[in-house]
Amino acid sequence: MEYISTRGGIEPIPFSQAVMMGLATDGGLLLPGEIPQVSQETLEIWQGLSYPRLALEVMFLFAGDVSKEDLRDLVDRAYATFDHPQVVPLVELGGIYIMELFHGPTLAFKDIALQFLGNLFEYLLAEAGDRMNVLGATSGDTGSAAIYGVKGRRNMAIFILYPHGRVSPIQELQMTTVTDPEVHNLAIKGTFDDCQAIVKEIFSDLEFKECYRLGAVNSINWARVLAQVVYYVWGYLRLREAGVQKVVFTVPTGNFGNIFAGFVAKRMLPEGAIGRLVLATNENDILYRFISRGDYSLGQVVSTISPSMDIQVASNFERYLYYLWGEDPARVKKAMEEFKGTGRLTFSREELEMVREDFASLAVAQPRTLETIKAFYLETGYILDPHTAVGVTAGLAMKEEDMPMICLATAHPAKFPEAVKGAIGKEPPKPPRIAELEGKECRFQVLPASVDRVKAYIAERAI
Ligand SMILES: *Cc1c(COP(=O)(O)O)cnc(C)c1O
Repeated sequence: MEYISTRGGIEPIPFSQAVMMGLATDGGLLLPGEIPQVSQETLEIWQGLSYPRLALEVMFLFAGDVSKEDLRDLVDRAYATFDHPQVVPLVELGGIYIMELFHGPTLAFKDIALQFLGNLFEYLLAEAGDRMNVLGATSGDTGSAAIYGVKGRRNMAIFILYPHGRVSPIQELQMTTVTDPEVHNLAIKGTFDDCQAIVKEIFSDLEFKECYRLGAVNSINWARVLAQVVYYVWGYLRLREAGVQKVVFTVPTGNFGNIFAGFVAKRMLPEGAIGRLVLATNENDILYRFISRGDYSLGQVVSTISPSMDIQVASNFERYLYYLWGEDPARVKKAMEEFKGTGRLTFSREELEMVREDFASLAVAQPRTLETIKAFYLETGYILDPHTAVGVTAGLAMKEEDMPMICLATAHPAKFPEAVKGAIGKEPPKPPRIAELEGKECRFQVLPASVDRVKAYIAERAI
């Protein structure tokens, strides 16, 4: 399998190189040259596989230059860190299936990709005799999942910037209680935007980047998308074995990474196996406006109780545009240049019709999300986290009777106790992974919002 750029400016490269490259060198995003097709016969065989075995089969179709034995080892170790025997269990409740993606070390779905990506990076670095210092900024979930993806891996260190005093107490503890020497939590005296601007500026210093072998683990990395394709196939298979032919997924969406993986799965599986994908947003509704009106234009970011979806520019969206426009890189390149200049893209009626064959969408405002958490709890006794509740609200609003629907549960409710309390009057019970954080030793370094100070810190401690 070879990989190409959405903007057409690179020669095709193998999987391992695509993973190490992250963002394509022409500024585009990397995609497989073709999406493999999976037959009913193959699905029949896959139906009996455990989650790690299925992950191996799905990923191997895309991963040409990593041997199957090696890939098996990477996948097995990635999912051994999950604390549910099925890795991704499915629960049927209130007329909908909840697919729990939060049984990893940081209790959010990002662990599914980042546990694997950490192993994959370690493996590829060892092959190349190289090392990597991961640098990133976080407002919450991504930072801790990245730290758990990197810690303990050979020839890797990680530097995570977060706004001092502005991330939730649980999210902060999930990061700062990791005291391994290769993990560096940098509490920046500033906002998340300051953190992001510092990281961006450091990456743009190519000499510094090369000298310290800086790398990123952000959601545009193809391996992250690939690891997420697996659970759509997994969810489909669980209903297929119960006799269901067609499944609809509803996805709480921010950066379009998770739902784009669903789009890949939809194209891989036999025609009609996966129905339209329900794209659920909160008040940050750029993707909802795109699907409902063909208006993809930047708005102001609003803070909500589902903070991991508080995003305006959806970094994986360009990947979808590539397919929408018939795999025409020149068109994508031109559109992305236009978007950079104007902050807006518009779509014709015909294009919009094509979009709506793939997606349906709803933007769910906070009061409605809280109501869903409450109603779902009263009806079923199950506590939804505020992100999952956005997905459930949108899904149920679109659901036709007898339509099998899976909502992706992207975080454990105990990560967002205040929001849950606001809905049902009490905090959710703490799972051991959260309870054991309290009283643990913490390590972090407070730094001013200064590029030079952060650079100096990295230069001193990079591996
Ligand atoms: C990251 C995240 C999302 C959004 O996923 P995208 O891939 O950015 O669309 C939703 N819910 C939770 C809990 C997350 O951490």
